[in-house]
Amino acid sequence: MVYNLDIKRPAWREEEEFVLFADAANAFVADTCAPHIERWEKAGIVDREVWNKGGEYGLLAPDCPEEYGGVGGDFRHDAVLIDAVHGQGIDSWGVVLHNAIVTPYVTAFASEDQKKEWLPKLISGEYVSAIAMTEPGGGSDLQGMKTTAIKKGNGYVLNGSKTFITNGGTANFIVVCAKTDPAEGAKGISLFAVETDGLEGFSRGEKLDKVGLKAQDTCELFFDDMKIPASALIGPEEGKGFYQLMDKLPQERLIIALQGMAMIENILGQTIDYVKERKAFGKRIIDFQNTRFKLAECKSEATMAKVFCDYCTDALVENRLSTEMASMAKYLVSDLQCKIMDECVQLHGGYGYMNEYPVARAWRDARVQRIYGGTNEIMKLVIARGL
Ligand SMILES: Cc1cc2nc3c(=O)[nH]c(=O)nc-3n(C[C@H](O)[C@H](O)[C@H](O)COP(=O)(O)OP(=O)(O)OC[C@H]3O[C@@H](n4cnc5c(N)ncnc54)[C@H](O)[C@@H]3O)c2cc1C
Repeated sequence: MVYNLDIKRPAWREEEEFVLFADAANAFVADTCAPHIERWEKAGIVDREVWNKGGEYGLLAPDCPEEYGGVGGDFRHDAVLIDAVHGQGIDSWGVVLHNAIVTPYVTAFASEDQKKEWLPKLISGEYVSAIAMTEPGGGSDLQGMKTTAIKKGNGYVLNGSKTFITNGGTANFIVVCAKTDPAEGAKGISLFAVETDGLEGFSRGEKLDKVGLKAQDTCELFFDDMKIPASALIGPEEGKGFYQLMDKLPQERLIIALQGMAMIENILGQTIDYVKERKAFGKRIIDFQNTRFKLAECKSEATMAKVFCDYCTDALVENRLSTEMASMAKYLVSDLQCKIMDECVQLHGGYGYMNEYPVARAWRDARVQRIYGGTNEIMKLVIARGL
């Protein structure tokens, strides 16, 4: 459960709507996810039913308007859900990507007919979603992507492959980035909503063997003369994909920061409890000055990061979160997360390296936060552009 740093949280968190949503989300994760995490890690995937159950509880795409079956919330609901999921160490369930990274492409850029068709299924869990940008040849340089979507008859024919796709093993609704004009860079990219059930020319690779996020079915996707209807294009015209991606990337980056923050609070709290119990040389581990100094540093930096995360969340909700600021949050919090996870493993001694201890999983799961969603080097390029 999330360890409460001693700072005043934004007033909205005390509003009844958010308190009730937090209670529901925390109970759902505690009852439906936490007891299964070790089994899911061994299987390399979360149970498919958890998506449908999450839909029943109103946890999928909670920021979608009620007319499509959503709870009519906003990004703050996603922030609350992140605390529940990552604050209980369920880092592998790709629900936040589904809710706050993929679905927003539909709510922001799809036509009314497309929204009516797709949103109810994204909200109920009938669709599990993914976003496919990265290719085996490169992820940082999106403009250089090789996957093509060529107009033919009433639709498009896609060829190419994607890799490292979160929810890739389960997803049946995938936002695919492809070049409709291969001669162009950014201007040649379009986004397509691909409904994969029974789709010819679509296939998935094996689940990738990752260092962490063991219950996440990350995999490769292949498109081999894959035919999709023209109505799969997101937005009214081709060539807008790169701009659509750029519009939504600040939110994706803030989400990674918020996930990192919840993971820090969870493990910091567990570590403080642990060092108060464990003894060496006749003393509690917390009574060694080194432990006190290390935890004082961790708590100070975590507190500073949390204030910044709250600031950025409010800025996003008020539509004033800049790309630079979101990149700062992603880079600073994910770097800090890796540093704090490492200290917490150390303070657990040998038990910190045992998979049965949540700190070990959190340490493994943390590392990728500096890589996905744009590497931290790319974040610094973005920040530097605004100097
Ligand atoms: C577990 C996991 C889940 C993921 N989920 C998804 C997903 O759902 N969808 C998706 O599309 N992608 C996903 N990714 C891919 C992820 O976004 C990419 O791995 C990431 O963007 C980096 O791309 P790359 O791996 O091709 O590295 P490269 O682009 O090859 O970069 C290699 C190194 O070079 C550095 N570098 C590159 N360009 C520059 C530069 N201009 N200046 C300085 N340094 C530079 C990078 O920072 C990095 O250190 C996921 C990755 C992982 C590991």
